[in-house]
Amino acid sequence: MTLHADYDPDNIFAKIVRGEMPSVKVFEDETALAFMDVFPQSEGHTLIIPKEVQARNFLDMPTERVGAYMERVQTVARAVEKALNPDGVVVTQFNGAPAGQTVFHLHFHVIPRWTDKALSGHASGQMADISNLEAIAAKIRAELG
Ligand code: AMP
Repeated sequence: MTLHADYDPDNIFAKIVRGEMPSVKVFEDETALAFMDVFPQSEGHTLIIPKEVQARNFLDMPTERVGAYMERVQTVARAVEKALNPDGVVVTQFNGAPAGQTVFHLHFHVIPRWTDKALSGHASGQMADISNLEAIAAKIRAELG
């Protein structure tokens, strides 16, 4: 049962929030942290996670915290769009392993799409070059002011 289970405080995203694991950050405040996906499905694939809450998935998220968190998701999605000028943007999220979830701390994906470019596989393939991710993150950060 990955849909309803205890939150593991040592999941990789919890470690990133605590600074115990590195990440290429684009945004952080008291509500959320956004960073580059290290197995990007497209250029600019960004993840936004809530802070100060132990939610495995969207269904677990305390309702009173959803609004502030989703505002950050939209803020980052808009910055990704401005920074990279894609033809479309996927904003998505998976609940439970059968739905495709692989990391059990709530996160939304922002995945830019270009009409002529296929998506890479989900959470698979080659890890991205970190200096390349840093360059993309700098463009996104510039749009976040
Ligand atoms: P999901 O499968 O929806 O749980 O998404 C987890 C996402 O986290 C996948 O897209 C992975 O590529 C990504 N991911 C896994 N480990 C890391 C990490 N250490 N830093 C950044 N992204 C990661």
